Amino acid sequence: MNNEELLRRSLAAVWHPCTQMKQHEQAQSTPLPLVPVVRGEGLWLYDADGRRYLDAISSWWVNLFGHCNPRINAALADQLGKLEHVILAGFTHEPVVQLSERLSALTGNTLGHCFYASDGASATEIALKMSFHYWQNRGRPQKREFVALAGGYHGETVGALAVTDVAIFRDAYAPLIRAAHVVPSPDARQAEAGESAADVARRAAAALEAFFEANHERIAALIVEPLVQGAAGMAMHDPEYLRLARTLCDRYEVHLICDEIAVGCGRSGTFFAHEQAGIRPDFLCLSKGISGGYLPLSTVLTTDQVYAAFYDDATARGFLHSHSYTGNALACRAALATLDIFDADDVLARNRARGDKLEALLAPLAAHDKVRHFRRRGMILAFDVDADAGFGRRFYREALARELLLRPMGNTVYFMPPYILGDDDATFLAAGAAAALEAALK
Ligand SMILES: *Cc1c(COP(=O)(O)O)cnc(C)c1O
Repeated sequence: MNNEELLRRSLAAVWHPCTQMKQHEQAQSTPLPLVPVVRGEGLWLYDADGRRYLDAISSWWVNLFGHCNPRINAALADQLGKLEHVILAGFTHEPVVQLSERLSALTGNTLGHCFYASDGASATEIALKMSFHYWQNRGRPQKREFVALAGGYHGETVGALAVTDVAIFRDAYAPLIRAAHVVPSPDARQAEAGESAADVARRAAAALEAFFEANHERIAALIVEPLVQGAAGMAMHDPEYLRLARTLCDRYEVHLICDEIAVGCGRSGTFFAHEQAGIRPDFLCLSKGISGGYLPLSTVLTTDQVYAAFYDDATARGFLHSHSYTGNALACRAALATLDIFDADDVLARNRARGDKLEALLAPLAAHDKVRHFRRRGMILAFDVDADAGFGRRFYREALARELLLRPMGNTVYFMPPYILGDDDATFLAAGAAAALEAALK
């Protein structure tokens, strides 16, 4: 299919995600572009005419080592010749065993039991269900409510929306949802004059403490996105919040669920974001980057203590949740190949240099008089733009015109590149972003 045919047939037959389809209509004066992609290689996506785009948001935060990565491709080709998939109830296979062991080892073997699903929202729901069921099995049935942070995002199925506090995704479905309790976010942008990010974290933790003090008998778990609340607009906070939340969860007998679907797998600078606070959660949700951006896969890791509460002669005390593609062999193999690259290439150390380089190149943007709160955590860089509500879409179009895939959330521009960004790529990206900003502000 050529570009034109691909676009026409896509608009007729494909209902695109997170999209008001009418905005793609060509009749409108400023239609939202729909970009046809026929090929990917490394950082670049190509259309049928050979036009290219640098994927600076890792295709919705999933791609870690570039498109059509030769090492992940080779692992998948090998796996295709052995086993594509097998039912994981009553059966097992090498990729799922190896992946579980390696992920547990990455948590210092504190989270030694891995449960699998296919997407992030399902991982959230698994963690919520496991926490609730744990308290049932432990004879504490009144502990059945959840606490989430203001602006938190944990997926968009009806169950995951219960702990998601992003109005645009949640409000239309409010009557369907058993909404969680929402406590203040430690978002460092809320710092008042003279306040540090750690001060904001302590303020938010004090609110959490007051909430637990009054309600802990009814609370099963607190769910957080450690260090960076992605869909809130890359809202970043000090690790102090996680340290204090861990202490409070212990004191009030509440599970701590770390949703590292976006910030895990090296994105925050450490392999897991919670490591920067020196804590471990009771449940850890992973997805997005875990398969290198190749195949849908998610997992929830938990402790011996949680696992033991389900281990019983009674079937109904077990965790009977299931998905058809649970522990898919190809997806697990892609994840193993992804972990191999972390080991072989010293990725975390090299990412520090990559992040520093991009941050330095973006310094003129950070100093721009319309730019607020330039911030970075590992391989996530973001800033807010003081502009009208149409800015985000204009910036997206202007970036595409400069061969860049950058997709602001509201007026927040962010960079979340694959971990293969070279110096020249970073220079190209920073220059294009600066030009797109000027054009979108006009
Ligand atoms: C993307 C995301 C989810 C949801 O994952 P899906 O695979 O899109 O369902 C949940 N939590 C966080 C923090 C995310 O970034």
